[in-house]
Amino acid sequence: MPYSYDDENIFAKILRGDIPNKTVLDTDHTLAFEDIDPKAPVHVLVIPKGRYVSYDHFAAEASDTEIVDFNRAVAEICRMTGVDLGSGGAGFRAISNAGSDGVQEVPHYHLHILGGRPLGRMLARPPG
Ligand code: AMP
Repeated sequence: MPYSYDDENIFAKILRGDIPNKTVLDTDHTLAFEDIDPKAPVHVLVIPKGRYVSYDHFAAEASDTEIVDFNRAVAEICRMTGVDLGSGGAGFRAISNAGSDGVQEVPHYHLHILGGRPLGRMLARPPG
């Protein structure tokens, strides 16, 4: 089944300028902004400007130019927020939720960059 993109999702509205955001970085193909409900001192969302639902959609169908732009933006955001290892930062976690098992709330591909405190283990094992 082909990927199906909802143009009314909240990040599409941010990209159209219909609702505001706290921009961290804006490039030709990528926008990064602060999460409205931060889970850590650094919590930035990085999104492609193209209509991609999820990480797998982006990885499969985005152009090389978009993919390079996105990844370079991630590196720049890590540098800007001071979490990158290259300049002595304490590190970060990059998370992308996809679909129902991934508990994705907004159906426009986004990478969470979280840092600024110890984040604990990524997932807990289910009980039993
Ligand atoms: P996910 O569960 O991976 O889809 O995460 C969606 C994220 O988008 C959550 O961390 C929300 O806090 C965040 N979010 C929702 N609406 C906005 C908004 N208008 N501006 C910034 N972040 C938002």
